[in-house]
Amino acid sequence: MATDYQLRRDIVRFGAMLHSLGFIAATDGNLSVRLDEGRILVTPTGMSKGMMTPSDLVVVDMNGRRLKGKRQVTSEIGMHLLIYRMRPDINGIVHAHPRTATGFAAAGMALNQPLVCEVVIGLGLIPLAPYGTPGTPELAATLEPLIPQYDAILMANHGVVTYGSDLQSAYMKMETVEHFAQIALVTHVLGQQKPLACEDLEKLVAARRRYLGVNSAAPMPVYAGMDDLGTKRRLSPSSPPARTLLTTDAESYSSAKISPQRRIACHLVVILVQEIFDIHVGGNA
Ligand SMILES: [Zn+2]
Repeated sequence: MATDYQLRRDIVRFGAMLHSLGFIAATDGNLSVRLDEGRILVTPTGMSKGMMTPSDLVVVDMNGRRLKGKRQVTSEIGMHLLIYRMRPDINGIVHAHPRTATGFAAAGMALNQPLVCEVVIGLGLIPLAPYGTPGTPELAATLEPLIPQYDAILMANHGVVTYGSDLQSAYMKMETVEHFAQIALVTHVLGQQKPLACEDLEKLVAARRRYLGVNSAAPMPVYAGMDDLGTKRRLSPSSPPARTLLTTDAESYSSAKISPQRRIACHLVVILVQEIFDIHVGGNA
């Protein structure tokens, strides 16, 4: 069982990692851990999460009232408390603004195509919650319908929140979301996406329980597609089977004709995107 001090050091360490990867800028982002049934250890507002010390953190009760610490608690405490209340299995939460995943969120696009097998195993789909004003109950309300089944959520025009059985698990999911967003972006640039077939999705979902630490309840492939608000729509018994939808998506992408000029342009964009990522990560290492 980790001590209070070890958990403080974990938050400081993962905050610094988020900052070094460029997942947060200035005073963005927040992290928290559940200390016990009635107390949450959480980052303060108005401070770089790359420059914290263990004593900067704040302890609050399940109503967000400060119990310990000199600084003011993050304005997003309502979102953290909602997740802890709804998910007793969750003990760590990370909120950040990684640029590619946040770009998808700002474009109104969920990461809802099953393109990479490991992401299907670990997270399933990554849905997009409608926009809610930060620091208000509106934000938590937009996440509420998605929290029971997903461990990673895009927040429209804002960022990403991930959570897990401990803080490390939550942090890893944030890395996975951003990495997957970069891969999805490259497929968009290339003009083709080939989602996994329904049979393969079923095998991957069945394989989840063999992977240590994976407890995602994301219901793939029962769900497919998003409406205009980015809200998941459930396939009703009268809807076409998920296989039909996914296959249709794959066929429509793969049958798209790409001119030689477009292919070269896409190639150049991919190289440019890669260099931007390399320069950024290298510059902060
Ligand atoms: Zn934010």
